[in-house]
Amino acid sequence: MRNRVKICKWKYGAISPVVMGIDDLANVWVDRNKNGKIEPEEDWGYAKNRKNSAFYYLINKLLKPFPDVKVTFFVPVGIRSGLVNNSDIPMISKMLNSDAATIDFFRNIHNNPRFEIAYHGTDHGIAGKERYDYIQEWQTFTSLQEAKDRISYGKEIMKEVIGEYPKGGKYPGYASNEFSDQSIEESGFEWWSRYANFHKNRALKKNVYNRYIHGPIESKSDNYSIKKFGKNSIYDIPTTLQGNLFNPIILKKKNFKSKVIKLLKTHYENRFYKEIDYLLNNNKIINIFEHMSPSRNHISLQEPNIFTDNKSLTKILYYLEKKHVWNATISEIYMYKNISEKMILNQKNNKFHFDNIPYNADEISLQIENSEIVITPDNRRYSSKGNVFTLPILRGMYRIC
Ligand SMILES: [Zn+2]
Repeated sequence: MRNRVKICKWKYGAISPVVMGIDDLANVWVDRNKNGKIEPEEDWGYAKNRKNSAFYYLINKLLKPFPDVKVTFFVPVGIRSGLVNNSDIPMISKMLNSDAATIDFFRNIHNNPRFEIAYHGTDHGIAGKERYDYIQEWQTFTSLQEAKDRISYGKEIMKEVIGEYPKGGKYPGYASNEFSDQSIEESGFEWWSRYANFHKNRALKKNVYNRYIHGPIESKSDNYSIKKFGKNSIYDIPTTLQGNLFNPIILKKKNFKSKVIKLLKTHYENRFYKEIDYLLNNNKIINIFEHMSPSRNHISLQEPNIFTDNKSLTKILYYLEKKHVWNATISEIYMYKNISEKMILNQKNNKFHFDNIPYNADEISLQIENSEIVITPDNRRYSSKGNVFTLPILRGMYRIC
């Protein structure tokens, strides 16, 4: 009987990879209620993992029922700017390498296999008088060289803190200009998050859809795919789901729209589940967008954020837990995709081997019909889960039994 071998799209034969992408974990505290004490909702990372920190809240409260869920943190390495420059709300913002305890905190996060630290600029941008005057970091650069110089400065700080250069990152505010993509490419990143695929209707109305939608809206499926850009084929990882998806049926607001949504709760709930189902049914990445903190030096709250969205996130994660998904960091997702696209599988009868093995290749998941055991080139026996084998990538012949 012929054993057809096929490389799985995602590791373990999962239908979709899942990751939480949390923006602006930073060495920042905004004393929003001006009482001189750090509270979890005011912290961005400044309180490290103490009990009153946002990080403690995330891990020990929000994600406690979901120990397998992984997080990619997007971290600005410099003095993170406030939203406005004339605020009377006290804010402490320091460099990521400002002291040994801070370096330890961030390095331990990055060394934990459940997490990774990714690049999110230096100061994140320049604040003005009003919140809408804020200019996002990559839009402040007036030349390619300026962008590259700043990235190079930021990457060295990141290396000092986490012990290696970051593999990827995200534009603050998903905002860029004509030099930006080239600056990413020429700075040695392997993946980058350029776009978020939500706020579609709102963004289109404002005619700013390029910032939020990766490509024309007609090609919905394409918008949610991992794509590539530049000569070096940097993997472009879209943000595909908002953590606050279910808030309209959860949060109590007094306006008319909110009352209507409450009345039609089941209808809206199903509609929101359908957004997740769309990603699952099409084997897209589920990259959940969140911010670490609701607090900034302005009366408005930062949204989405892990505090306001606690219940919505919990609902999303419980739903995903019941599906055959793969929890991974963005770098792990990018690496699997890179390996599975580059590697060539050669099969002859009940034997196969790989050609074109990338330098960073570690494991691959294969779907093999009518088989229970695969013996690797170094004579280890692997059994399947379902009909999926997750095998170490080695040179030499694999045997199907
Ligand atoms: Zn940000």
